[in-house]
Amino acid sequence: METKKQIIPVAKGDGIGPEIMDASIHILLEAGARIEPKYIDIGEKVFLSGNTAGITEETWDILRTYKVFFKAPITTPQGGGFKSLNVTVRKMLGLYANVRPAVSYHPHVPIKHPLMNVVIIRENEEDLYAGIEHQQTPEVVQCLKLISRPGCERIVRYAFEYARAYGRKRVTCMTKDNIMKLTDGLFHKVFDEIAPEYPDIENEHWIIDIGTAKLADTPEAFDVVVMPNLYGDIASDMLGQIAGSVGLAPGANIGDEYAMFEAIHGSAPRHGGKNIANPSGLLLSGVMMLLYIDQPDVAERVHNAWLKTIEDHVWTYDLVRKGKAEGITNYTEANTTDFAKAIVARLGQKPEQLKAVSYSGVRAKIPKPKLTNVRNQVMTLDGVDVFIREYKLTPDELGKKFEKLAGPEFKLTMISNRGQKVYPEGFPETFTTDHWRCRFKTAEGGTAPTHENIRKLLNKIEQSGHEWIKLENLYLLEGKRAYSLGQGE
Ligand code: NAD
Repeated sequence: METKKQIIPVAKGDGIGPEIMDASIHILLEAGARIEPKYIDIGEKVFLSGNTAGITEETWDILRTYKVFFKAPITTPQGGGFKSLNVTVRKMLGLYANVRPAVSYHPHVPIKHPLMNVVIIRENEEDLYAGIEHQQTPEVVQCLKLISRPGCERIVRYAFEYARAYGRKRVTCMTKDNIMKLTDGLFHKVFDEIAPEYPDIENEHWIIDIGTAKLADTPEAFDVVVMPNLYGDIASDMLGQIAGSVGLAPGANIGDEYAMFEAIHGSAPRHGGKNIANPSGLLLSGVMMLLYIDQPDVAERVHNAWLKTIEDHVWTYDLVRKGKAEGITNYTEANTTDFAKAIVARLGQKPEQLKAVSYSGVRAKIPKPKLTNVRNQVMTLDGVDVFIREYKLTPDELGKKFEKLAGPEFKLTMISNRGQKVYPEGFPETFTTDHWRCRFKTAEGGTAPTHENIRKLLNKIEQSGHEWIKLENLYLLEGKRAYSLGQGE
C-alpha cells in the first residue's frame, strides 16, 4: 500500500534559490520522503508585479491549507517600499520560534571550534523587531521594544521541549536584564519560572554581552541557547559564519499551527543561475522539516548521506575555498547538481568519522505551550511620565517651572534626558538633547492619579508654552512598581 504523501508548498525563490531548491527536493524525493511539492511563487517576481508584500492572497490560502512551507531565499528589491517577506510570513503565521543549529564538521570543514554543536532558539516576533519607530523631536528617534509574557512563555517552553525532544542536556538563556529590568527582566523571569518544570535539563542564564563573547570563543560550552529576537539574530548569524560557510546553516521558523523551513543565507544574486551554490543549508532545513512532519526515518537517511558526502570531501566552491585556505587538497569540486548526485549516491550510507545522526523516536513536533493568564492582574495608576520637546531652558529652569505647574494633584519628582536624571540635583556636565522626560507622581496628601488629572496636567503644560510629545502612564502591577527608575533617581 502506498503511504499518503504530505503536500508541501515549495517556493523556489530568487538568485541561487531555484538551483538549491531543485537539488534539495531531488535528494529528499530520492531518499523516499513522503512529500508532494506544490510550487508557489513568492518574492522578486511578485514584488515587481506591484505587490509590495511579495505574496498574493491565493498563496496565503495555500499556506493556510497545507501549514508546512519549504522556502528558498528570495530577493527583496532595494527601495520602492517593499516589505521583508520573511518578517511578514513569520508574523502573519505566528512563527514565534526561530531554530538555528550551528554544528562543527571538523576536520572535514575547517573550523576554529571543532566541538561546536549548539542550537540557537531565537524569539521571532517581538522585541525591537516589532518595528514601531517614531521621530520624537528633531534630535531624537525612538524604537519601541515590546516583550510580552505569552511571547516569553512560548519561546522558553519551546526551548526546553526542543532540548527534551533532541536529547540535549542544557538550556542557556541570554538577556541584558541588568539594564533592561522590565523587558529582558521578564524574559529572564519567565525562564526562571519554567526551568524547574524540566528537572532533567540543566539551565543557566548569561548576560548577553559576555555570553556572546563566550559563544564566539567557546561555543562548545553551550547546548541550546534561548534569546530574545535581536540578540538571537546576531548570535545565530555569528555562529553560522563560525561553522565554516554561511551555505551550511539551516533554519526553521515554528509556530503552534504553521512552520516554515529555510536556509539562513540569502539569495546571493551574484551567484544565481551558475549552478555553483551550496544547497546544504536548504537541504538540512528540509531534514528539519521531515522531522517536523514525522518522517524521522527519511530525515536520518538524508542527513547521514549528506554527512558522508562532506566527509568524502565532495565540496561546492565555498567549501573548496575554505579548504584551500587551510591547505586541504584532497577534495572533489562539485557544482550544485553534482553535489546533489553525490548525496543521492550515498543514501543508505553513514559517515565514518563524523558522528552519524539517529532520529529514531524523535518527536520534533512540540506540543502547543500552555500560557499563564495574567489578564486579570491589577494595574494601579501611580503617576505619569510626560515627554516634552525643549531646547531653551536649562534642567533647573525647566524643573522649577514644572514644579509650580504640577500642583495640587501632582508633584514633579524627576526630569531625565535620555534616561539620565538631570533634575533635581543633576550634574552640569551631563549632555542634554531636546527630548525630556518629566515624571509626575501623586502630591503629598493628594488623591491617587486619575486620567482626568493627567489630562488637566497636559493642558497646563500646553498652556505654559511647552509641547508634550507623548506620555507613559506609570503603573503598579499587583501593588509593585512596574516602571524603571531614571539613572540616578
Ligand atoms: P546572501 O546570504 O545572499 O549572500 C552573501 C554571500 O554569502 C554570497 O555572496 C555568497 O558568497 C555567500 N553565500 C550565500 N549563500 C550561499 C550558498 N548557498 N552557497 C555558497 N555561498 C553562499 O546575503 P546578501 O548578499 O546580503 O543578500 C542577498 C539577497 O538575499 C538580498 O536581496 C536579501 O534581502 C536577501 N535575503 C533573503 C533571505 C531569505 O529569503 N531568507 C535572507 C537573507 C537575505
